[in-house]
Amino acid sequence: MNTSGKLPESFGSLVFNEEAMKERLSAASYAAWKKCITEGTSLDLATANEIADAMKLWAIEKGATHYTHWFQPMTGYTAEKHDSFISPAGGGKIIMEFSGSELVRGESDASSFPSGGLRATFEARGYTAWDPTSFAFIKENSLCIPTIFCSYSGHALDKKTPLLRSIEEVSRQAIRILRLFGDTETKRVTPQVGPEQEYFLIDKALYNRRRDLRMTGRTLFGAKPARGQELDDHYYGAIKPRVAAYMKDLDETLWALGVLSKTKHNEVAPSQHEMAPIYADVNTSCDHNQLTMEMMKKVADRHDLVCLLHEKPFAGVNGSGKHNNWSLGTDTGRNLFKPGSTPSQNAQFLLFLAAFIKGVDDYQDFLRATVASPGNDHRLGAQEAPPAVISIYLGDELNAVVESIIKGTEYKEADKRTLKIGVDVLPPIPQDTTDRNRTSPMAFTGNKFEFRMLGSSQSISGPNVALNTIMAEELGQFADELEQSTDFQADLHALIKRVFTDYQRILFNGNGYDDAWIAEAERRGLSNLVSTADALPMYFSEKNVALFVKHGIYTREELEARAEIHMENYSTVSIIEARTMVDMIRHEILPAVSGFADQLCQRAFHKEAMQVSCRYETSTARELGRLTDALAKACDRLESDLSAIPGDTMDAMVYCHNVLIPDMDAARATADRLEAITAAEAWPFPVYSDLLFSV
Ligand code: ADP
Ligand code: MG
Repeated sequence: MNTSGKLPESFGSLVFNEEAMKERLSAASYAAWKKCITEGTSLDLATANEIADAMKLWAIEKGATHYTHWFQPMTGYTAEKHDSFISPAGGGKIIMEFSGSELVRGESDASSFPSGGLRATFEARGYTAWDPTSFAFIKENSLCIPTIFCSYSGHALDKKTPLLRSIEEVSRQAIRILRLFGDTETKRVTPQVGPEQEYFLIDKALYNRRRDLRMTGRTLFGAKPARGQELDDHYYGAIKPRVAAYMKDLDETLWALGVLSKTKHNEVAPSQHEMAPIYADVNTSCDHNQLTMEMMKKVADRHDLVCLLHEKPFAGVNGSGKHNNWSLGTDTGRNLFKPGSTPSQNAQFLLFLAAFIKGVDDYQDFLRATVASPGNDHRLGAQEAPPAVISIYLGDELNAVVESIIKGTEYKEADKRTLKIGVDVLPPIPQDTTDRNRTSPMAFTGNKFEFRMLGSSQSISGPNVALNTIMAEELGQFADELEQSTDFQADLHALIKRVFTDYQRILFNGNGYDDAWIAEAERRGLSNLVSTADALPMYFSEKNVALFVKHGIYTREELEARAEIHMENYSTVSIIEARTMVDMIRHEILPAVSGFADQLCQRAFHKEAMQVSCRYETSTARELGRLTDALAKACDRLESDLSAIPGDTMDAMVYCHNVLIPDMDAARATADRLEAITAAEAWPFPVYSDLLFSV
């Protein structure tokens, strides 16, 4: 695995992939599995038994001793419960066993996972069921079986089940459209996703000295360092040896797990980096992103580093996000968001584009809600990440096409013609490799849309469930209309023109970081859900509930459960942060600055006796005294507000947002001023310049 010449063989060496199955299964079982994943048929127990047996032998050959149903509860992380393969065989011996029913279905007393009220404790058990569309793999001597996680009554308790449902649904609706264009071959349309993952790396020893990083994943204090990211020298800069060694190890670890880690580079902020995989079907991509986040942390530990996936570990420097590149691919190898080379292909492209534009506008509030988290609140709308307003960037070429269709006018300087859908070809639309507009939350980049609002630590499942379902809805509406048509070309043209005209407000090619845009967006009637507390209630809006219920993605209860969990998470995170802050103020900052002030006073006293000037000592000591009192007061206030959290979930979230967060901001501002005038050796924990330039 260490030499690149061996990479083709070592890639996916820990994955029970298609090749391994082909090699180890009977032709009939392999065919049954293949049919199961391409046509959604179920597996009979005999086949499951054969696959389980082959999987077990393969895993044992690779040194595995345990197996686990690997699943993604609604927390957004992954969960696993390991069982060993051993089974007593008499005479104190064991055999290694693993049956088809253990493969296909597991049971887990998972009563501690949040269920948002979906599971009363008397039915605390959750069921896990193998997802045969995602390959099993070996991690730390355990065979990991990707599974869905449901309650006894069949409610989805995880992030995978709704994702799989949404994949089916968008395929079904997209096929209806393809048939209208005479495509009789395509059997499946699958969302394709490439998530670009940002992260910070810092030195482990320094990390261990910061309670806030350990408890909350971000710094709750820290004055701006003399040097931040102003020099722009880190972005795409040379990678330092320690980081390079980490990235190499990470690549090799991920490759063995079949993750197509492709691009690595330094990001804008010091100590910030990015990894982008080659895109895959969204289900695989989602599993792989979870594995990537897990391995980023584990590999860092081996290098005496800590990988921070928090959206905003440091105030004043760029935070981390995840760009979710999304497109629709057919089983015949076509990308439905790639402009074609014939008029008919272009008409089809424009119809899919129209569906996307309409869908993003119709459900902008819900899309915003899918990226709402306490960490992301520090990022969205700041001068580094997309605003909280959702709009679509098409690029100049495609924008010109859309405008010419709306106005019925010539679309190109050099080629003054009126574009007729289904008759003319489009001008060349360049694939955007240079990120021309980095400020847009949803950018068309030549053959895919890049949804840039995701937080770095979040599961990509939720936003993709939303994108898939929204697309299914709009394609379904278009299909309903066009299937009735007696003049397809004319009606198609009219529909596309109508949608482009009606939904212009969501298109924006300018600078999304500009305040003027926020004002303009308001004039256009776009929603601006600034914080998580504003965004999460969108889970309850009738329009959004109706969408998901109609397509069988979430029941009303499942959707409400998710909102509940997110709201609770917001409060829990805020409370932990506030408590950590109180803890650090009382036990670290106040004693340290008080000691330092005392030292200054003593020095001033001695100096005065010797008639030596002591203006620095006295003025600093006075300022320290003033700020210390203010900080103690801010801390008292935080503590008393912490004792008054309302019981209701939504009220608690709103309270945390309106009361605790401002309290924390105030305390931090005072603490940061104290840091700025306290001697370096007197400050109780590593400061920003130590942390950001530590590796
Ligand atoms: P950039 O780095 O400029 O944003 P890239 O072309 O490198 O653009 O793509 C970034 C991510 O988008 C990668 O993960 C890549 O695999 C993914 N990607 C590329 N094409 C598609 C596509 N058709 N559908 C989904 N994701 C894609
Ligand atoms: Mg990108």
